[in-house]
Amino acid sequence: MVQTGFRSLLAKVHAIPFQTSLCSTSGVIEIDLAAIADNFRRMSGWAHGAEVAAAVKADAYGLGGGRVAPVLREAGCRSFFVATPGEGIALRSVLDDAAIYVLNGLMAGDEAAFEEYELVPVLNDPGQVDRWAAYCARRGAALSAALHVDTGMNRLGMTGEEAAAMDSRGPGFPVALLMSHLACARHPDDAKNADQLARFRQLDPLFPAVARSLANSGGVMLGADYAFDMARVGIALYGGAPLDGGPNPMDPVVRVRARVLQIRQVPRGETVGYDATFTAPRDMRVAVVAAGYGDGWPTVFTGKGAALAGGARVPFVGRVSMDLNALDVTGLPEGQPAVGDLVDLIGPGLGVDEAAGRAGLIAYELLTALSRRFERRYLPA
Ligand SMILES: *Cc1c(COP(=O)(O)O)cnc(C)c1O
Repeated sequence: MVQTGFRSLLAKVHAIPFQTSLCSTSGVIEIDLAAIADNFRRMSGWAHGAEVAAAVKADAYGLGGGRVAPVLREAGCRSFFVATPGEGIALRSVLDDAAIYVLNGLMAGDEAAFEEYELVPVLNDPGQVDRWAAYCARRGAALSAALHVDTGMNRLGMTGEEAAAMDSRGPGFPVALLMSHLACARHPDDAKNADQLARFRQLDPLFPAVARSLANSGGVMLGADYAFDMARVGIALYGGAPLDGGPNPMDPVVRVRARVLQIRQVPRGETVGYDATFTAPRDMRVAVVAAGYGDGWPTVFTGKGAALAGGARVPFVGRVSMDLNALDVTGLPEGQPAVGDLVDLIGPGLGVDEAAGRAGLIAYELLTALSRRFERRYLPA
């Protein structure tokens, strides 16, 4: 069969896993691997001697676990946390000698996969403890697991009483870690932190030889009392602020750049975008960029978002649509930006926390929503 130019291009596109890199309209996410390693070392220095483990769930907060985890391993990270067994299996293919904990627990039927890929289940209730103990007995193997005790978040985890019962009857497998999770660590003044710490401390007599973990990124900043043996750090590694408000002590990691597709003159009184929610109050110059909710910028940014064009801040105008968004560039010098230029949605002067916060989102949410349409470029560690 004769291949038309179009067909042979299609064949090429399908042969390349990151097909978006072929598209000259695509935006670019730059991920600074050296900054991730620096942030890991910085958090390790602040952790009061505790081991810093990396939370790499949701594909390392959207940044690409396959690239990020080996860099962290190289920087000295020995323990990694994912949410699901599938994430753990994927991570195992790039980490052969690190501990991989699976936070979402142990559902029936997954036991063999945990064993095969040497994943450590974080057991969240007595049923899961019994399930793992029964599996270990069946296999005649002492496979370790972590126990998650709830101290007031009421998300996952067993009660303190359930943990005590485990301890007194012997769980039936080696306990690698006793952990809990803070609900308000981003807010150092919240009384809930001390309350959760006190409840975690009540577990002191249990499993005396077992390592403990309470702090996430924010928890590391709460002081030595919260450090225990291991901190589980996510957002700070990826350049997000560990605490709400105040200066961000982490190195920026992520730059998100969208391509300008068209510059248009919008006369006063004309509207921009779906549902005509924005009416030009004066003659305007508008840059239409290729980044919409299909790329990870949801419609809550309508009327709230901003970008940097050549370093200058420009507001979003009109409703964010699936593939496109409009920026008011009236105030910029003629010819700036130009078609084909990249503008920053996250970049120097517009950090991930500020970018997300403009629309009432959190940095975690914006990062994990970044779509596959962006080309990901990794700056070397
Ligand atoms: C996601 C998560 C972390 C990491 O939290 P950050 O705020 O990103 O540091 C730690 N522990 C648990 C249980 C988590 O779910």
